[in-house]
Amino acid sequence: MSHPRDILKGLGASPLKALSQNFLTSPHWSQKLVDGFLSLGTFEEIWEIGPGLGALTEMLHSKTSKPIRLFEIDKKLSQYLREKFPETPLHEGDFLTQNWIEWVSSPRKVAILSNLPYHLSSPMIFRMAEHKEVLSHFLFTFQKEFADRLTAQPNTKNYGALTLITELHFSLKNLGTLPAGAFYPPPTVASQAILFIPKPVHPNEETIIAVIKAAFAHRRKKLASNLKERFPQNQWENKLSQLGLSPTIRAESLNFNQFETLAYKIK
Ligand code: SAM
Repeated sequence: MSHPRDILKGLGASPLKALSQNFLTSPHWSQKLVDGFLSLGTFEEIWEIGPGLGALTEMLHSKTSKPIRLFEIDKKLSQYLREKFPETPLHEGDFLTQNWIEWVSSPRKVAILSNLPYHLSSPMIFRMAEHKEVLSHFLFTFQKEFADRLTAQPNTKNYGALTLITELHFSLKNLGTLPAGAFYPPPTVASQAILFIPKPVHPNEETIIAVIKAAFAHRRKKLASNLKERFPQNQWENKLSQLGLSPTIRAESLNFNQFETLAYKIK
């Protein structure tokens, strides 16, 4: 593949910051991401969000004959991709506003790959969680700082509601850190590739999410005070003691299983 700078020049375009356009220039990383992505599951179709100039798309086509569907918001890039991959269906527009569920042929059979537009990291994860029953798995790249919040351990500054809600929905596998130099233009920080495997829908999902969100509403406050605000009819200090936890503990000290147990104790 030619260098993205030259392709963009030919299109009369330049990388758009507002669309988080940082294009992969490293064949090593394209291959590593695609190999990690294809190594899993019994999926039937592949979707790529934000294919850009097609670095990952080209690698996918060289490694699998499974059907691929593209979602790209940028008009000029969409036109370029249609010419480059004429057999590959492309949906032009914002992936987040499209009713993509209607393109799913069967449950648990779609695998999604995206060198993600960084400004959409959280909304994309939450959209995947909403529809996780149709997904076999997905691989996203994130700014390293954001990825650190997904994989954080209790009692660290990165640990919070995002970590726990992600754990409720998915098992994660870290596929490595991409240096800024793997992209054009180079972003200001490194990126992290993470593979997500959906878990079955939890029978108490809504309550667990409500407890987690309430627990982290005010980070400096004690867990019992935060929970009292949202669920006032419960004696939270007693419930924490019953679990062998200090009544003055803070939310960031509890692991996912402890939040799961707390959620079952709500009146
Ligand atoms: N996949 C390419 C690569 O690895 O070189 C490009 C990755 S670039 C980080 C992000 C891509 O997502 C850009 O092509 C951008 O135009 C596209 N994009 C940004 N927002 C989008 C959205 N809401 N829906 C679909 N594509 C989007």
